[in-house]
Amino acid sequence: MKLYNTLTHKVEEFKTHEPGKVKMYTCGPTVYHFAHIGNLRSYIMEDVLEKFLRYEGYEVTRAMNVTDVGHLTSDGDTGEDKMLKGARREHKTVMEIAKFYTDAFFADCEKLNIKIPEIVEPATNCIPEFIKMVSGLIEKGYAYEAGGNVYFDTSKLDDYYVFNAHNAEDLEVGVREGVEADDNKKNKTDFVLWFTKSKFEDQELKWDSPWGLGYPGWHIECSAISLKHLGEYLDLHCGGIDNVFPHHTNEIAQSEAYLGHPWCGHWFHVLHLNTASGKMSKSKGQILTVSVLEEKGYDPLVYRFFCLLSHYRKSLVFSWDALDNAAASYGKLVAKTAALDTDGEVDRALFDEYRAKFKAALDADLNTSNAITEVYNVFKAKTNGATKAALLADYDRVLSIGLLEAAEKLKEKNEAEEAPAAGELTSKIEEMISRRLEAKRARDFATADSIRCELSAMGVDIVDTPDGTKYTIR
Ligand code: AMP
Ligand code: ZN
Repeated sequence: MKLYNTLTHKVEEFKTHEPGKVKMYTCGPTVYHFAHIGNLRSYIMEDVLEKFLRYEGYEVTRAMNVTDVGHLTSDGDTGEDKMLKGARREHKTVMEIAKFYTDAFFADCEKLNIKIPEIVEPATNCIPEFIKMVSGLIEKGYAYEAGGNVYFDTSKLDDYYVFNAHNAEDLEVGVREGVEADDNKKNKTDFVLWFTKSKFEDQELKWDSPWGLGYPGWHIECSAISLKHLGEYLDLHCGGIDNVFPHHTNEIAQSEAYLGHPWCGHWFHVLHLNTASGKMSKSKGQILTVSVLEEKGYDPLVYRFFCLLSHYRKSLVFSWDALDNAAASYGKLVAKTAALDTDGEVDRALFDEYRAKFKAALDADLNTSNAITEVYNVFKAKTNGATKAALLADYDRVLSIGLLEAAEKLKEKNEAEEAPAAGELTSKIEEMISRRLEAKRARDFATADSIRCELSAMGVDIVDTPDGTKYTIR
């Protein structure tokens, strides 16, 4: 598979450390609020990537953290802990907030057909692993204690800006206007591995450590959790584009310094979902969530379909009009699927030919919009419904837009609407029988006959007996 690598700035052949096996890591949610549909764009595209790798035959092991401590309101180690902020807002404990929003995140994933990684680890589960890694970095001379905190010394690296994607503003992290400079840092770009002292007090969760009672920095959690579950060599690391700097840059710095060798070969980043007024963000008050979409009457899978229509390396602008268009297209695909007559044999040759085209679309840097074009092409194919349904089922192992399931629901709904309720049917039959009787009394045999035919077409047979007209339903 050819896939863009943020590390090399090239679309290149995706390679793994061990043939046929992929160790994949995903930066998970910070659970202080509902995930907005922008966050979920990243998880949808990562889900497609994981499923496509499996479709290609790789054995994938995927781990994801849940950030429930240490992510400060500024990615540059300043501000308040986001979890504490959430707890204050809702008058709950940090752990209550974490549980509530972790469950909400997984519920959203389920609605969007996002497979939850088999390994999910909350940061607060791994304090011993963080302490071990920070101690190792101090021993190797890559970290230092200052003012009670432990910092990573970025000057010890030949190349700290591995992604080369920083801009002047990134370089100013920690010294931006409105953000106080941290005098403990030896270099502007140094970052906190372990806090015992921070700019705010009352951190709710604290643990003992060789450096005093405190809590981990945000970046160390992903390096340590990845190492714990996926070993020393990672094949694929994913996240939204905002994670490139400083989060992923810092993950690479500390992981490679600790391990003493290159760590992760391939970096996959999803560009942002924006609104017409700019980036979607959890801290910007009213946020667009899956529940908001549902309240407005959208099937969450329409949002997944909307995301797949665009390439993950292009930013995507959200608007209700654009979502309406996606909903209309999705509805048409569901109706076409429902109309397939799936009796008969699958045409294997055609199936393989179409499958190869679908695979080729995704092989080319996960081009989901071309993959959706292949879905349309299935309906145009000169073959039977059984082959078309088999192709849709096969593609859905990757796309998970659920056309076959939605078509089944549509058929059930249509049948329920068409078939009148038992009571309604009885009164309709009785009304027709009495009209026929009146017609016969009036010697209007043509009308009487036509009512008999109508009843027969409805599956109702009638016989005239001395006790009146009796009917049976076929
Ligand atoms: P967070 O819960 O803030 O840690 O973010 C979870 C994931 O969503 C990370 O991978 C972010 O990079 C990603 N993300 C944040 N904002 C957006 C956005 N507007 N569009 C797409 N992905 C985003
Ligand atoms: Zn991370």
